[in-house]
Amino acid sequence: MARRAGTIFREAAGRTAGAVPREAATARTRRGRAIARRLARRYPSPAIPLRHDSPFQLLVATILSAQSTDRLVNQVTPSLFQRYPTPANFAAARREDLERAIHSTGFFRAKARAIQSTARLLLERHGGEVPRTLEELTRLDGVGRKTANVVLSIFGVPGIVVDTHVRRLSRRMALTAHHDPDKIEQDLMRVIPRREWSAFSLRLIYFGREVCVARAPRCPSCPLRDLCPSARYGGAPPWMAGRAAGSRFAARGRSARPRAAHARWAVCWTARPRL
Ligand code: SF4
Repeated sequence: MARRAGTIFREAAGRTAGAVPREAATARTRRGRAIARRLARRYPSPAIPLRHDSPFQLLVATILSAQSTDRLVNQVTPSLFQRYPTPANFAAARREDLERAIHSTGFFRAKARAIQSTARLLLERHGGEVPRTLEELTRLDGVGRKTANVVLSIFGVPGIVVDTHVRRLSRRMALTAHHDPDKIEQDLMRVIPRREWSAFSLRLIYFGREVCVARAPRCPSCPLRDLCPSARYGGAPPWMAGRAAGSRFAARGRSARPRAAHARWAVCWTARPRL
């Protein structure tokens, strides 16, 4: 596999700047699955890092995680869920009280609005229960595919969760050429076996925090370097320069070596939180 990957990456040297390396779909699938196997060995049982005791709590926590960190969200949710244990409690809450309770997670007004709207819709349409299909979940206000797939994972429904880490890593690993989360999700779904979708997302997230961090990826010691075309570029490949998701690292080129890594569970990439 390593030799094959090397061939692919050499071929990539002559490609147009800004484009991901050309690779046959079967080769990409083989490489993606090899990546998935290694990540599975490294993280055999990845847990959802947001504290929750029910699907509803996970739904609220995931909404809160937009433009925030799981650490901040986990600091807020124990007292939040004690104060508002059910959708009915959230629906009836005073907006100002709710905003104050979630203030530290950022975008607190939009999040409070989304949580209350979601709680009301759960009561009106689903008897206060969290639905178990992507279609029903994404019909709730403020719930996008990412949030829906996180929630569905605890029902055993496989889904690729495209957060900032999954987006960055799948682009660095050239498993997708897209920027758009929905298209990245589709590309990963084609490569990774369905039963592994949820765990694979979590493994990428953990790996993105630990090794393939945003600003200083540890390529020299990375256990995936023989499978990753970005290894030769120190994690800043030309196809991620320019637009590159607004990455200052990428924009400065491979010689730049930023100082801090950040570890966000669910940072979005728009000015407004895409929940
Ligand atoms: S080789 Fe570098 S860019 Fe590729 S996965 Fe490893 S750390 Fe990330």
